[in-house]
Amino acid sequence: MKTNIQLIQADITTIDVDVIVNAANSSLLGGGGVDGAIHYKGGKTILDEYIAIRNKQGGCATGEAVITTGSNLPAKYVIHTVGPVWQGGNKNEAQLLEDCYTNSLRLAIENKLSSIAFPNISTGIYRFPKEQAAMIAIQTIKNFPEGHQFEKVLLVCFDEENFLIYKRILEA
Ligand code: ADP
Repeated sequence: MKTNIQLIQADITTIDVDVIVNAANSSLLGGGGVDGAIHYKGGKTILDEYIAIRNKQGGCATGEAVITTGSNLPAKYVIHTVGPVWQGGNKNEAQLLEDCYTNSLRLAIENKLSSIAFPNISTGIYRFPKEQAAMIAIQTIKNFPEGHQFEKVLLVCFDEENFLIYKRILEA
C-alpha cells in the first residue's frame, strides 16, 4: 500500500495533526526559523520537556529524534530532530538528513500517531541544497516500510521556492 503524502505551503505551527516535526537546533537556543516558531507558539513546556529528555539521554545527535508534548499548538505532539548542517556534501549530510526522516517516522509509529507533518529540514539556516533535500525527504518517506500505517504524511513548505521544488518532484 502507498503512503498518503500531501503537500501544502503553510506555517507548520498552524497544522492540526497528531504530530509536527521540528527542525531542532542543536544549541537548544530556539533561535529563528521553524524551531523558534514552534517554541514561541507552543509555549515553554515544550522546551522544558526537550531539555529534560536531552539531559537524561545525554543529548540528541544529528539525525536522531525525540518526542515532546505539543502543548499550546494544535498538534498533540512535536518530534524534534536535529538536521545536518550543510558543509559541502562530504560530511555524510545526505545520510544524516535521511536519518532525520526515518527516525521521526519510527518514533511516530512507536507512539501510535497516525498523522504527521514535516518541515523542510536543514534547508534554512543549515543551508542544505533545497532540491537535494526535497529528493531525500520524498524518497525516504516513500520507502519507509510502515508508511501505509499513517492516515497522512504532510509535507509543509514555508517558502515558495521549496513548495515549487516539492510540487515538481511529486508530480514527476
Ligand atoms: P534548519 O536549521 O534545519 O535549516 P530552519 O528553521 O532554518 O531550520 O529552516 C528549515 C525550513 O523551515 C526552511 O525551509 C524554512 O523556510 C522553514 N520554516 C521556517 N519557519 C517555518 C514555519 N513556521 N513553518 C514551516 N516551515 C518553516
